[in-house]
Amino acid sequence: MKIKNGAEYMESLKKLKPRIYYKGEKIEDVVNHPATAPHVRSAAMTYALAGQDEYRDLATATSHLTGNVISRFTHVHQNVEDLLKKIKLLRVLGQKTGTCFQRCVGFDGINAVYSVAFEVDQKHGTDYLERFKKWLTYIQDENLMVVGAMTDPKGDRSKGPADQTDPDQYVHVVERRDDGVVIRGAKLHMTGAVNSHEILVMPTTALDERSKDYAIVGAVPVDAPGITMIFGRQASDSRRDNLERIDVGKPNFGAVGGEAVIAFDDVFIPNERIFLDGETEFTGDIVYRFAAHHRANYGACKTGVMDVLTGAVSYLSQIQGTAKGSHVRDKVTEMIHLNETLYSSSIACSAEGWPTPSGAYMVDTMLANVCKHNVTRFHFEVARLAIDLAGGFIATMPSEYDLKNEEVGHLVKKYFSGVADFRSEDRIKIGRLIEAMTGGTAMIESMHGAGSPQAQRIMIFREGGLDKKIKLAKALAGIPSKESKKVSDKT
Ligand code: SF4
Ligand code: FE
Repeated sequence: MKIKNGAEYMESLKKLKPRIYYKGEKIEDVVNHPATAPHVRSAAMTYALAGQDEYRDLATATSHLTGNVISRFTHVHQNVEDLLKKIKLLRVLGQKTGTCFQRCVGFDGINAVYSVAFEVDQKHGTDYLERFKKWLTYIQDENLMVVGAMTDPKGDRSKGPADQTDPDQYVHVVERRDDGVVIRGAKLHMTGAVNSHEILVMPTTALDERSKDYAIVGAVPVDAPGITMIFGRQASDSRRDNLERIDVGKPNFGAVGGEAVIAFDDVFIPNERIFLDGETEFTGDIVYRFAAHHRANYGACKTGVMDVLTGAVSYLSQIQGTAKGSHVRDKVTEMIHLNETLYSSSIACSAEGWPTPSGAYMVDTMLANVCKHNVTRFHFEVARLAIDLAGGFIATMPSEYDLKNEEVGHLVKKYFSGVADFRSEDRIKIGRLIEAMTGGTAMIESMHGAGSPQAQRIMIFREGGLDKKIKLAKALAGIPSKESKKVSDKT
């Protein structure tokens, strides 16, 4: 692992020259720019934990390619234990950052592409897996951060890629050369893109024969010619402009992952970095395996985040003198119960992992979809309870400017005090933390990250084994067995 800690990770980013825009201006230094720095710091935590005795076992792994110790974020899962360690690692990282630390997207992309490349080679006699292994060895040795680039803009959603008026609504090959291909298009909502080293481009959906040019998987550096990124705005991000640290709520880390548009304006991918090209029948597998891995994560990273939120609300109730109220304890109990229920599904889909033909392990896809789907409910319920317990002041309190103002500061301190021995400033700090963790951007990410709820419902129905369930019901009711109409894909 060439990059050994968070500081070296930040140094490594300074050597890259990605073209990034934010609020109409170019960002030259992602490590120190106030909009991107918090996200860099959360990703840096994935590097930092690997060097700490307490977490080394979770944060590192042994490469099945080289036998070297590597960051777990660059590892291909070799067994159920690997899947479980990933989940435990993500919860710890959620607890340490209170936000998205971004690096799982590339991690999941690596695992999806690895297992599918094996199967493509088996069918077509291609050498995608060998190419991928070479690239992955480089990623592991250097300890690089990879952004998994899947979500296309999709243009007119009533039409597939081949029928769009503007073909660039899906990333596609526009030119073929002897030494590689040139791609054009864009990827949206790219978590961690501006502070990654490499981009792993993958298709966004299952494709048919008419869309061969859209069936492209390949890797490019973030500063490859033709790549432009546009960093997204987040709720209250202007509070960071003057480093109003208390008002930010979580000064060191971002509200969510720090998402960007990545536009590919004729970007060249050399042959040795192409891992699928035209084999449309495998595109669905890449998308589905990536999505299942990522949906499994959400019951881990988000439970870590909700651990922080539960702690914040509990501490605030101590400051406010309500901690002993039975209704407060009951609501905190409910928050913990919901959180641990979510974590259970992350653990369950990992414990039920299975080996793909390549040897790379997959999570149980049904349970992974249930896990992410529950996040779209439970995280909102936990946030609702947190806001309920915190009180309306989290939306109305004065700013740090007033707290520090000579004329009115004493008024803020006086009227935002609580139980003696607690400082008004700490009440405000915790209030701001709760505001940041239950606000717009963070909660939207929980709803739509790793796929919107409907995407999970489709998979839950498809994998629901309804035919088998019907047979069970008929057997118990004494209805003679004859083949019933097939209603789902899995029996
Ligand atoms: Fe990782 Fe969670 Fe962020 Fe996805 S949302 S990249 S799983 S921390
Ligand atoms: Fe996410």
